[in-house]
Amino acid sequence: MQFNLIDERWIPVRRRDGSSDKIAPHEVTKGFDDNPIVSLDAPRPDFNGALIQFLIGLVQTTAAPDDEDDWEELLIAPPSPESLLERFMTVRDAFNLGGDGPRFMQDFEEISTKDSSIEGLLIESPGAHTTELNIDHFIKRNTVSRMCHCCCATALFGFQTNSPAGGPGYMTSLRGGGPLSTLVLGDSSYDSLWQFLFLNVLEKRKFENMCGNPTLTEKKHMFPWMGETRTGRRKKGHQFTGGYTTPEEVHPATMYWAMPRRIRLNLDNRTSSICDICGALSDRIIDSYKEIPGGASYGGAWLHPLTPYYEKTTKGETNILPVHAQPGGISYRHWLGLVLHDSRDNKTPARVVHEFINNRQRNDCQFRLWAFGYDMDKMKARCWYESTMPLLNIDHVIRQTFENCVAGMVRAASEIAMNTRSAVKKAWFKRPGDVRGDVSFVDNTFWQATESVFYDILHDLKSDLGAGGLGIKAGMVWHKELCNQALKLFDLHAWNGPVEDEDPKRIVDARKKLQQYNYGNKIKELLGLPFDKKSTDEKKPIARQKKS
Ligand SMILES: [Zn+2]
Repeated sequence: MQFNLIDERWIPVRRRDGSSDKIAPHEVTKGFDDNPIVSLDAPRPDFNGALIQFLIGLVQTTAAPDDEDDWEELLIAPPSPESLLERFMTVRDAFNLGGDGPRFMQDFEEISTKDSSIEGLLIESPGAHTTELNIDHFIKRNTVSRMCHCCCATALFGFQTNSPAGGPGYMTSLRGGGPLSTLVLGDSSYDSLWQFLFLNVLEKRKFENMCGNPTLTEKKHMFPWMGETRTGRRKKGHQFTGGYTTPEEVHPATMYWAMPRRIRLNLDNRTSSICDICGALSDRIIDSYKEIPGGASYGGAWLHPLTPYYEKTTKGETNILPVHAQPGGISYRHWLGLVLHDSRDNKTPARVVHEFINNRQRNDCQFRLWAFGYDMDKMKARCWYESTMPLLNIDHVIRQTFENCVAGMVRAASEIAMNTRSAVKKAWFKRPGDVRGDVSFVDNTFWQATESVFYDILHDLKSDLGAGGLGIKAGMVWHKELCNQALKLFDLHAWNGPVEDEDPKRIVDARKKLQQYNYGNKIKELLGLPFDKKSTDEKKPIARQKKS
């Protein structure tokens, strides 16, 4: 069975007039002047996240701009579909999903093991190892048992790109299990799919200098499935001893085409059926695959261009690690590390974001950041998160002060969110420290309620610092907003606690202490606001009185 991902129309998209279509990759610029493609249109949000990375990777690998002038020109006047096809054809043989030769993102040779249901390629499904142990308690097997080729190719790429831990020998992706990706997103002047993907393609030389060995230009060094399967390193007691795949051993393009899992799709099924994901009728349905442990183990200083990284020092050794989404989602509290450097947490934005802010953003168009990823609990995907946030072009002269101010704003919000939650528990219970219930909804509502004001203030802060100000006014406005929202949330929840335990005096007391702390010195100091050093009003912040 042949299904070539360069030739076939398999990528679901939407055009500006609202019509849906399926395109081959090179057709991304088809109709650009009249009715351009404006978005991907996959049946699942994580499929859109996988497909955009597939397209960025393909263009980065075969049609990267030579320099920044080239990039700017092509962003506005993209290459024709014919010219893109010419570039993509140079790697066509690496994109066969089936056939006798190398297969896209699959093991070089046939694998002999028992079949797994195709739904194992969906990250939220119980993996082969989990099913084997019969511990798929939360997400049951067999909800997706058939996929069309379009969905299956996307699922396979997504699975190799996000690969979670899956038991001994089932390796995680080059960026760990379920990495966070952050992409630059255009505004209404740059709203085509081509521009979206090209905003995230680096100049050839810069990409090649990030990490990896650009002199290794053979296809097997770019697309691991084009050569003998790389096997991974295992701890003592396991049989796989292939060692790590480090950046020095392969071409930089591997970052987009890494293959940690050893998989072969079963493509001989000729049954005609409906795809359980997109609902399309397919005469070549795929219902199973084979997987064996011991795939490539990516080690060393990998720096993927779409992911932010942070420094972590353990036992005197500092490592640079990819950022992953955390419970609670992606909100403005993460803005600093995703858009600008966060020196408190040693977090550095993704290279494409850094490049855009420092060298490419030349006008005041409202570009945004699209951040997405899974919240993983080891081998289980708890949730898919995605969020957009504004990108700001901050002048180098004021950048350090701006970053410090924003860090203070986020810390002040964290303190007040924590304090509000604690005050609600104090209002509800005689012994709030004993409460085991989950009241994180108070924090989540707080973050959501203050988000739009936060972004408004960033613009004001930028103007103020640019005009020689100290950001005091922004700090005051933010302080007022945080205090108001805290009180609003407290009033909403405090009077609706467990009835048998209700005590009006305790509620009034908790409210008073909440205000005292929110208007106290610690919060003012974080926001750079003047405060009375002699004051002791927050010596006993209610958030700290008892473990909560
Ligand atoms: Zn489908």
